[in-house]
Amino acid sequence: MTHHEPQNPATAPDLGANVPVAELRGSVAASFDSTVSELVDLVAIPGIAWDAFDAAQLERSAEAVAALVRSTGIGDVQILRVPKEDGTPGGPAVVARKPAAPGMPTVVLYAHHDVQPPGDEALWDSTPFTAVERNGRLYGRGAADDKAGIMAHIAAFRAITETLGESFGVGVTFFIEGEEEAGSPTFAAFLNEYREMLSGDVIVVADSANWQVGIPALTTSLRGLVDGTVEVRVTGHAVHSGMFGGPLLDAPTLLARLIATFHDERGSVAIKGLQTSDTAALDYPEELFRADANVLDGVELAGAGSLASRLWTQPALSIIGMDIPSVDMSSNTLLPTARAKISLRLAPGQDPAAAMAAVEAHVQANAPFGAQAVFTPGEAGQPFATDTAAPAAQAALWAMGESWGVPAVETGMGGSIPFIADLKSIFPDAQILVTGVEDPDSRAHSANESLHLGDFEKAIVSQALLLAAINAGALGEQPA
Ligand SMILES: [Zn+2]
Repeated sequence: MTHHEPQNPATAPDLGANVPVAELRGSVAASFDSTVSELVDLVAIPGIAWDAFDAAQLERSAEAVAALVRSTGIGDVQILRVPKEDGTPGGPAVVARKPAAPGMPTVVLYAHHDVQPPGDEALWDSTPFTAVERNGRLYGRGAADDKAGIMAHIAAFRAITETLGESFGVGVTFFIEGEEEAGSPTFAAFLNEYREMLSGDVIVVADSANWQVGIPALTTSLRGLVDGTVEVRVTGHAVHSGMFGGPLLDAPTLLARLIATFHDERGSVAIKGLQTSDTAALDYPEELFRADANVLDGVELAGAGSLASRLWTQPALSIIGMDIPSVDMSSNTLLPTARAKISLRLAPGQDPAAAMAAVEAHVQANAPFGAQAVFTPGEAGQPFATDTAAPAAQAALWAMGESWGVPAVETGMGGSIPFIADLKSIFPDAQILVTGVEDPDSRAHSANESLHLGDFEKAIVSQALLLAAINAGALGEQPA
């Protein structure tokens, strides 16, 4: 594992005076072995929310998580679901609530219990659903994503109730969904149906990653996404490329010219009106990026500004598919039409509808040789940005730094977590904290998924410290 010193570690307030740090750390340590064995038991249940897999295993998974949540003494634990659009049941979510004491805030602890399919089992060094420890890491499907997130919530809650007892007045809601890896098809409907029960002042999402082993991170920005197709039309039907080629360019050539206008000479997105920023707080070393992406020798990186900003706070445009005849099916024809699918990642703060309109305007303005260029809008997803100056984010940064013993860093994510946008739109006043137990070597979704056990324990401690800091007033005055 490569270690890198981040250039700009986040600064956080010192909340330690009001929090029994040593007691919480000791409580987590005392039960850590049993926490890991509970995690091993969860990994043994192959709860996969995809239609092709046995739904009974997903039910078993929900039951097992409900039993673990119940064992914390939180009281009423329910398994809830809402129907999908086609009427079939959505994934089973586990919800449990400890009401807040008068005047105290409520924290919602989110994770998901469904997992990715194992994929090709021949690529695994050990059986996917039998978690085993090797060299300080626990290997198994879901060992990191996201059953460790569930156990971090449960173990932290146990530590804090054991340490603070009746004086822990913060309301806590467990919300462990069961269809995240299937794209959370009923997530928004579920939030709307159980809005009352799931509302809180802070939502802690444990489904992301730390920066490196030994360096904790708060994921503070996620890019949004719009996509769509562009079709270039030149003639009413195909004509012979020898008879007509010369004065007339074919549709793939014109489409290629149009696609070339999406980026400037350096490879930055050239569509006018898109938001962009170069303020990513972290230094992402180029050699690390090259290794992570397996970039071939000689290939130059595109764009301008810091590498982290190019990944996290600037737009990025990719062509992800094309409809033209395959080489094997090619003939001497001047092709009348060609179509490409555009995927545009959006900077935090960008309105997706405005981005979609900007793409459409760009396509119209840059249609080469007067060809008809038709843009058809596709999907749109909101970007996300944490207000890192807000009290909950400050408390989380403090808790991570205290637990790991090194300052936490603020990272972005170039991709999206679609359900975060749903949380934000349905609970606009909640402070959403995106945390996680993964590290760059966790290989979530791939063969040999694993969890670094040392960092797992620190993640639990950090979560307990966050809850204790909120209990001690870190969020400030609560609205009556
Ligand atoms: Zn996940």
